[in-house]
Amino acid sequence: DFNGSSSFQAFAKMTEIKFTKLFINGEFVDSVSGKTFETIDPRTEEVIARIAEGDKEDIDLAVKAARHAFDHGPWPRLPGAERGRIMMKFADLIDENIEEIAALDAIDAGKLFAMGKAVDIPGAAQTLRYYAGAADKIHGKVLKMTRELHGYTLREPIGVVGHIIPWNFPSSIFFMKVSPALAAGCTIILKPAEQTPLSALYYAHLAKMAGIPDGVLNVVPGFGPTAGAAISSHMDIDKVCFTGSTEVGRAVMEAAAKSNLKQVSLELGGKSPMLIFDDADIDKATDLALFGVVFNKGEACVASSRVYVQEGIYDEFVIKLVQKAKALVVADPFDPTSNQGPQVDKTQFEKILTYIEHGKREGATILAGGNRVDIKGYYIEPTIFADVKEDMLIAKDEIFGPVMSLMKFKTIEEAIKSANNTRYGLAAGIITKDLNVANTVSRSVRAGIVWINCYFALDMDCPYGGYKMSGFGRDLGMEALDKYLQVKSVVTPIFNSPW
Ligand code: ADP
Repeated sequence: DFNGSSSFQAFAKMTEIKFTKLFINGEFVDSVSGKTFETIDPRTEEVIARIAEGDKEDIDLAVKAARHAFDHGPWPRLPGAERGRIMMKFADLIDENIEEIAALDAIDAGKLFAMGKAVDIPGAAQTLRYYAGAADKIHGKVLKMTRELHGYTLREPIGVVGHIIPWNFPSSIFFMKVSPALAAGCTIILKPAEQTPLSALYYAHLAKMAGIPDGVLNVVPGFGPTAGAAISSHMDIDKVCFTGSTEVGRAVMEAAAKSNLKQVSLELGGKSPMLIFDDADIDKATDLALFGVVFNKGEACVASSRVYVQEGIYDEFVIKLVQKAKALVVADPFDPTSNQGPQVDKTQFEKILTYIEHGKREGATILAGGNRVDIKGYYIEPTIFADVKEDMLIAKDEIFGPVMSLMKFKTIEEAIKSANNTRYGLAAGIITKDLNVANTVSRSVRAGIVWINCYFALDMDCPYGGYKMSGFGRDLGMEALDKYLQVKSVVTPIFNSPW
């Protein structure tokens, strides 16, 4: 077992990489080209393993398998309860391997091991169970029509689904996408991000052990412009669900439009505001503001990267916030005292440091952090900028790192206007004891989820997704199940009915 800090290095080294090949039609296979790519440990900047590199030909094979499993296989035809039973078994297998999977996400993505073990991995199993419970409750309506017709609707699985997912929550997002699609009876080709293929391949193995039939869940690691683009432009995929950057989301939608007009849902970037009012408990508010931006090292699309504080408490708020930011421990994700691990890779690490330089050049004031941490690995200090103006790059762009932009406001109207002054609309936070302020602001903010006196409070029963350029379609909740279903109306004449 893993406890004291002295054993964490040993534990990190123990992690054995069992699965490095593509998972197509129930088998681990090499890529058609025979090519592989390196996956890097962001703690050490060293290669963890070489992974088979999927490209167009591999996506074609995976789509053939998924198409066959959908058109002729048992999965969509099973009673929902049976799909649910297999999904429950899949969830139990995850629970039996929590530590091993949490360790994979820690070395592949730099995620805190303790967090993975307590939240991400058990949460992945719970998400499967949530949708397993829905698999036998999918039904349509009887229609009462205006003419002499009898009709009803069937809710049918949409077919072959392509999932393209990012690297920031390799486990949570995998199951956010796969679970409702499986419950609906769809078959799947999933491309994990090139930075984080390890846990996805492990899940493919568990799916097979649970009894998910061959071809139902295919996992094809590879790069975006090759394997990813092959999914979004494929003629035989019925729907593509993408989570990632707004730029790539646009490319995915274009490719879908230019190929077979497959349905699209997009969960994209954010620049979410947290609005802290004068009546807030400053201790709680500083905790939430900091948590909102350093959670998962800021690699969260819902990160509260713009923090607006009302002028009456601003000075006191800043003093407490800076004290707390400076006390955070940035260290190896296996170290139980670590609050923040390394950024996922060199590209992201450099991108964040470039934004920090921009902030300095644009005239914002650094109150905490502002540098890389002086150890091996992609570690960045939690960084707080004050005196930020809304037209500065650091206030407008998604940085995807532990970087907060602090701004001051006077009135509620001003706060709402500032909150909405973004092309994004994923999340918003409101910290106040005044119910009327909370209600007014939550209705006025154009964002897919509003957290009042909390942040990152996600649950599988709580749909979330974007307004504006943060995308469309919802993950989680019963809304996400609807994404993988389509409605068929069945109509027949009915004569001489008094009704
Ligand atoms: P980030 O910039 O944060 O790495 P991306 O949006 O680039 O996020 O990546 C999210 C996912 O999209 C990854 O799986 C990546 O491989 C994939 N991807 C990148 N480019 C494309 C593309 N042109 N078409 C399809 N998928 C892509």
